[in-house]
Amino acid sequence: MAGKRRPKKSNRKKSKGKGNKKQAKAEDIVQELVPALPTFSITPPPIYMANIANIKELVKNLKEITCEGEFLFRITSVSVRLMIKTPDSYKEVIEHLKVAQYEFHTFKLRDRKPLRVVVRGLHVDTKPEELEKDLSERGYMPKDVSRVVHPITGKELPLFYVDLEPGARNRTIYELKTVGCQEVHVEKPRQRREVVQCHRCQGYGHTRNYCHRLVRCVRCAGGHDWRQCEKRRDSAAVCANCEGDHPANWRGCPAHKEARKNRKRQRRLALVSKAAKCRVKEVSPEP
Ligand SMILES: [Zn+2]
Ligand SMILES: [Zn+2]
Ligand SMILES: [Zn+2]
Repeated sequence: MAGKRRPKKSNRKKSKGKGNKKQAKAEDIVQELVPALPTFSITPPPIYMANIANIKELVKNLKEITCEGEFLFRITSVSVRLMIKTPDSYKEVIEHLKVAQYEFHTFKLRDRKPLRVVVRGLHVDTKPEELEKDLSERGYMPKDVSRVVHPITGKELPLFYVDLEPGARNRTIYELKTVGCQEVHVEKPRQRREVVQCHRCQGYGHTRNYCHRLVRCVRCAGGHDWRQCEKRRDSAAVCANCEGDHPANWRGCPAHKEARKNRKRQRRLALVSKAAKCRVKEVSPEP
């Protein structure tokens, strides 16, 4: 599907209409500096579903609200994953699932997410404003640029955190190779070590913001928020994940261990597929 970015009509009109050559020239230069915006198809995040009573009926309903071939289920022994092709269909499907009270969780749409990256390789004399200006000139929308300081020594490092406003162009920032004649590497910041746990359903790998699963109490596994919990102090806790006699957020829970293992496995797979993609790029001939 065509990307969300519309061509900058207003700018074109200005340069044509008044015949302002200076302005046209300036625009040409900017055009040269800013590489042509690729049209992205923004892939919506997957929707993980639970306890589907009748999948045939769900498929039938989804066919009615989306176009042919717009969705696909990937079912394994541990999860039911629903993938939607376009953001528009994704929004329709989410609405339907909410109204029909399905249990599911999903994630933020990528084009609505701000992006944080680390820019490595700039001399410590570089000011955050300089990097910010450079990125703006290349068509990015930096929200905040800050220098990374060593947590113990307090020494300034040749690293910057860059926060970009949400936008389809953000993904190209990893291809940035130089800033002000200095070679740079753009990387993802280190991910936190802990697995995320949802405060609504107590499941792992997602947060409560996009969770529409049943509420489970962290103390007694009941269908209520922990603030409404009536479990007495002297009665044993019940884990919503493994039914053991501990609160659902106990790190020693077998479900927590399993979630940690899964995350490691996923990361390994992601690294393998990334390496494979790089190899394909190297092998494929120049167009
Ligand atoms: Zn949840
Ligand atoms: Zn409770
Ligand atoms: Zn447990």
